[in-house]
Order: sequence, then C-alpha cells, then structure tokens
Amino acid sequence: MKYNIFVGGIHIESSTFTPYRSGEKDFHITKGDELLNRYPWIHKYKDRVNLIPIMHARALPGGIVKRSFYDKFLNDFMQQLDLALKLNKLDGFFLDIHGAMSVEGTLDAEGDFICALREKIGYDVPVCASMDLHGNVSQTLFDLSTVLTCHRTAPHIDTTQTRERTLTNLLPVLDGRKAGKKISKAMVSVPILLPGEQTSTQVEPGKSLYAQIPRFLQNKNILDASIWMGFPWADQPCSRGTVCAYGFNKDDTITCAKELADKFWGYKNDFKFVGPVASLKEGLQEALKSNKKPYFLSDTGDNPGAGGDNDTVLVLREILNLGAEKLKKIALVSIKDEQTVRELKSKQIHDYVDVHLGGKISPALGGPVSATMLIINKYSDNIAGDSLVLKKDKLSLVVTSNRYQFATEASFKNAGLGSYNDYDIIIVKMGYLEPDLSSAAKGWTMLLTPGSVNQDLKSLTFKNLTRPLYPFDDNFTPCLDVCVQEA
Ligand SMILES: [Zn+2]
Repeated sequence: MKYNIFVGGIHIESSTFTPYRSGEKDFHITKGDELLNRYPWIHKYKDRVNLIPIMHARALPGGIVKRSFYDKFLNDFMQQLDLALKLNKLDGFFLDIHGAMSVEGTLDAEGDFICALREKIGYDVPVCASMDLHGNVSQTLFDLSTVLTCHRTAPHIDTTQTRERTLTNLLPVLDGRKAGKKISKAMVSVPILLPGEQTSTQVEPGKSLYAQIPRFLQNKNILDASIWMGFPWADQPCSRGTVCAYGFNKDDTITCAKELADKFWGYKNDFKFVGPVASLKEGLQEALKSNKKPYFLSDTGDNPGAGGDNDTVLVLREILNLGAEKLKKIALVSIKDEQTVRELKSKQIHDYVDVHLGGKISPALGGPVSATMLIINKYSDNIAGDSLVLKKDKLSLVVTSNRYQFATEASFKNAGLGSYNDYDIIIVKMGYLEPDLSSAAKGWTMLLTPGSVNQDLKSLTFKNLTRPLYPFDDNFTPCLDVCVQEA
C-alpha cells in the first residue's frame, strides 16, 4: 500500500537586527512539479509514497517577514491544502522549513505555522519536518511535530539527504502505527547560542560533536537524532542549541538525547571562529600586505546568507579612504542598491557616473558612499535582478537590484568579473566561505564588521533570549532535563 504524503512549508532565516522587512519580492513560491523538484530522490520511493505538493515559500535569509505577506501565504497554503484533502486521504505531512523565521507580531513563527497546520489536519496525522541546523526549535514545534530532523553538516552539503531523511523518518512511523507501535520523542534544550562562524562541522569541536550522531544510529531502536545550533539574530526565546532524538525504545531515545546534549554542553568553551578574524582596518591591511592571491575577506556583519542587509558600505568606504596608490586589484561582491541601478538604467558601459551607493537599509551605519565610478558591465540575473559592475581605480564592485550572495565562481564570472585568480583581494558578503570560495582561497580573514548579523553577539541588544545562556552568561549550572513524549 502506498502512503499519501503531503509536502510544503515556508523557509527563511530572519535577522531581527535589520530594519529590512522580507515580503513577496523576497520569496520564491512553488507548487506542483516545481515544488517536487526539491526532492530529486523521490523516484526511489515510488512504490511506497505518493508525494503530493501543497505549497512552499523560500527566501534568501533576510529581515523579519511582513505580517501581510505571511498571512496571505498561510491563507493560500490552507486553500491548496483544502483542495488536496478533498482529493486524497492524508497519511503523513512532510513539513519543509528552515526554522529561524521571524514574523511581525510573533516570537514563534514556526510554532504558529504548525499550530495552524494541526488545526486543519488534526493532531493524529504524523508530521515530520526537515530543518536547517541553524534553526530554532520551540516547545510548540517539538510538541506538535512527530519527528524533526536537521542538517548534519555546516557548510550544508547534506541538504538533499536531510530532506530525504524526513521521508525515511515518516515511513517507519507510519508502518509502526499499523503495528500499534508508538514513537518516543526526546528533546533537550541546550543553553548555548553561537554564530555559525564558530560552529562549523568541518573543524573541532563541531566535527566531533556531529560525529556522535552515527554512533547512536547504529542502535536500531533509534530512528533519528539531530543537533541544532540555533540562530542568534532571530532573537527568540527558543534561540539556542537543541538536541532531539526519536526511537522505538523510550529508554534508548532518552539516553541518546541526554548524551548528545551533555557532549554539546561539554564542548561549549571549545567553539572558536572557524578562521582567522580581524577588525575591518587590520584585516584589510593584512590582505594588502599578503602575497597570497586571491585573498578573501568576509564582510561578516553584512552577510545576506544569514540575514544581513547586503548594502552596508563600511568596507567600501575604508578602501576608498586608503587611496588608489595603496590598493591592489580588488573585487567587492556585492552591494544591493536597487535605487542606484534604476537611476543608472539609461547610462552606458564606459560612462563615468556619480553614485551614492548602499547604506540605505540601516542608515545608522553611516549612510551611502559618494564617488565617481566607471560602469564596466551591465547584466541581469534571475535572482540578483538588473545589476551593474562599477570600477574605481583598482577596485571593481557589483551592484545588484535584489539581495544576493556571490557563493560560487560561476556567479562571479556571470557578472563579467573573470575568474577569482584575476584578483589580489576578493571581498564577499559572507561569513565562513562557501565550498567554491574556500577551495580557491589562498588567504582568508573574516572581518568582524558591524551590521545586522554582527558576529560580536555580546555587543547586540537582545530582547527575547531565555537566560541564562552561554556565552552571555557563564558559570551557571545548565538545566539539561529531557522532555519526553510519545506519538
Ligand atoms: Zn544554516
């Protein structure tokens, strides 16, 4: 017999430290076959599963989601769900979320979403969710879901496998129910909150921590176990580490969750930045002095991959202030500035233009940079939108209409910048380097810049975190009690 499994959800990581609001323009909404493309492995389960697409919204990490957009999406989602329920018996729900969404007017957006889903489909149907390990797990999300799972790697090279595991969690739950078996659920909230730039799974202690998971999965009674690092800049009561374990034996499941949480807590003092860090001035000088080429500089405080504005110009201003004679060949990717792109629409390649660039989203960071620059390329990209490449002396920089991250060399080439090796220094709006960049980098420093995803968490004013919480508090005895349920 085949199971009818509905799939859908909403996927964004939101920083609450930017005035930017994420809305319709930021989300890509998929239904039907386009949504099913997210699950390229589904053919393997064609004898067991009818995967029925409902609706999915996905955005680049950004600011808080506008209430008007969220309410409309939820309404459309429920209409699609009603239609599907009329045509099909629902056996299980595959909830596809990131888990660090903020929406205007709530401190637990995914909790609210699953509440709405449960009101529609009831409380008995299994709901299994896939998440990002930089997601936050609220008590409501844990209570109302059957199994939650998340990545086991950061950078995330296991996105496809994580989604597939959501389905392979659902199947034994559904089979077990037929045999009258319940699943045990165990959650431990771990009072640690660190940025992703300190918790990569490629270096210690993240590497050893996540390496514990396969050891527990050798026990056939354990269905799945996951560790969330949480997402600080969402500033939610549940922004913190979480461990969840699921299994068909209650004691083994509790032991698994407890031991993983103890390990996590035990490593807390060992998490360090995964690469060299420096202030903006020091890091830039270091790169200019270095003979390693290309030398990457991450503008971490403005990383759109974590919800940064993507338009701060602190690094640009510093470069221009240095003067041409002190510079090497530099590429800066990229600054979002729709207004500038629009104003220069009629200008041609090789035109000199006066620009007031960036600095528009968070004016408190100093406002735009004014300069005369040469247009060296104009192009359009599906995600970045209409874009310009500007040049001043030895600096080339890309200006995009939409928020965008240059996470591959292909996107760099697409902008007409040539290859990474053509530059001495490449400045990216990023935290830890994505794989394409890290394999090309001969030198690298993470600049600890101010911005909406400032890595210096202690310098930010959080309003909603649950304390005590490391590293904001230290020398406290954590409550690592296991919350146990059956489903
Ligand atoms: Zn992530």
